[in-house]
Amino acid sequence: MPADFDVIVVGSGAAGSAAAFHLAARGRRVLVLERERLPRRKPCGGGMAASVQRWFPFDLAPAVDQVIAQVRFTWCLEDPVTAVLPGDAPFWIVRRSVLDGYIAEQASLAGAELRDGAPVESIARDGELWRVVTGPGGAAAGGSPSGVVTARALVVADGSGSPFATSLGLGPPRPRYASAVAVEVEAPVAEPDTARFEFGLVRHGFCWAFPRKGGYSIGVGTFIGREATDADGVLGRLLPSLGLPADAGERFSSPLRVWDGHHALHAPGVVAVGDAASLCDPFLAEGLRPALLSGVRAAEALDRHLGGETGALAGYTAAMREQWGDSMAWGRRIAQVFYRVPKVGYQLGIKRPTAPQRIAQILSGEMGYGDIAQRVIKRLLFQRG
Ligand SMILES: Cc1cc2nc3c(=O)[nH]c(=O)nc-3n(C[C@H](O)[C@H](O)[C@H](O)COP(=O)(O)OP(=O)(O)OC[C@H]3O[C@@H](n4cnc5c(N)ncnc54)[C@H](O)[C@@H]3O)c2cc1C
Repeated sequence: MPADFDVIVVGSGAAGSAAAFHLAARGRRVLVLERERLPRRKPCGGGMAASVQRWFPFDLAPAVDQVIAQVRFTWCLEDPVTAVLPGDAPFWIVRRSVLDGYIAEQASLAGAELRDGAPVESIARDGELWRVVTGPGGAAAGGSPSGVVTARALVVADGSGSPFATSLGLGPPRPRYASAVAVEVEAPVAEPDTARFEFGLVRHGFCWAFPRKGGYSIGVGTFIGREATDADGVLGRLLPSLGLPADAGERFSSPLRVWDGHHALHAPGVVAVGDAASLCDPFLAEGLRPALLSGVRAAEALDRHLGGETGALAGYTAAMREQWGDSMAWGRRIAQVFYRVPKVGYQLGIKRPTAPQRIAQILSGEMGYGDIAQRVIKRLLFQRG
């Protein structure tokens, strides 16, 4: 029986939309199934290196809310270090409902079909095909009400809560989670081109304040251990430092699947991308860049797989290891040392004369953690200046 589609993409976040666009642009018949009605709310700081533009043939500028020229780090709201980002490699702040929707729209323009309000309920292999069962919104207009669709290949892009990545043997068998609380505050912004990271207020993590149009995207992330952070207490100190009421904004907490070792991101006829593949940086929670990168690399590999190339999907796992995982292995080591002794980490890692430039290079994607890790870890372990 012929398949309904070449590829079904489960989830229309940054990773799924990027994969859908690049597959549709290669002429593949693509169906994207999204659980939520679009545009959907996604708690996220929205900070992203502008270098992601190189992965898309269309201009991402319409989805960018704010261009960041400098990043300020503090310890307990004091002792600031400012890193000026190079003009050719700025940092962008995006709203996820806008960015993800914009890339999904480009995928639709390239020929992909997008069905929202269509939660995927189960996935099964049927010979060479995938059978995907969805809730009501997944049925094609005028088509079978059963919501069963088939495809030759599958992209698992359903984010940090993904049940499918684990059941299909993609990524770590027991994913590791950071916890994050996000708050959006509408208010006048004092320094619209400055992103802030504060390390002293959060045990085993940091908080951030990113300016965006008409307000701030603020949050608290914890990267070691499972104990709950007193996010309201932290925000109660951070917000007044920005001239905001301590209890401003609605708070959303979400677990975030973080990178935790090299694992296969493919199985026969299927790949995992983005948070579902546990790609998020375990030191700074950078998950957008790997989500987009994995969507692009997954589409390239699936296109070759559908064209009959043996080993194409293994090539996807290998590419993600080389282009992202190797740096994350160092990022995880840095996180383990830094967040155990953050005060020392701040003094020796961030308050160095060369640090602002290095940090700018990491945030812009110009450098990986591997380029700086050995020196940073030695300095933290042996507390050498
Ligand atoms: C509070 C917070 C702040 C963050 N800040 C930053 C930041 O500033 N910069 C950065 O780079 N990263 C940040 N991250 C990480 C970043 O948000 C993620 O890494 C990124 O969203 C991953 O994109 P994704 O497409 O893989 O997953 P998601 O964006 O989560 O998309 C998954 C999609 O799948 C859909 N879905 C789920 N289940 C199903 C189903 N059964 N059927 C169909 N669809 C389904 C969901 O509705 C969703 O639309 C932050 C994360 C958090 C929690």
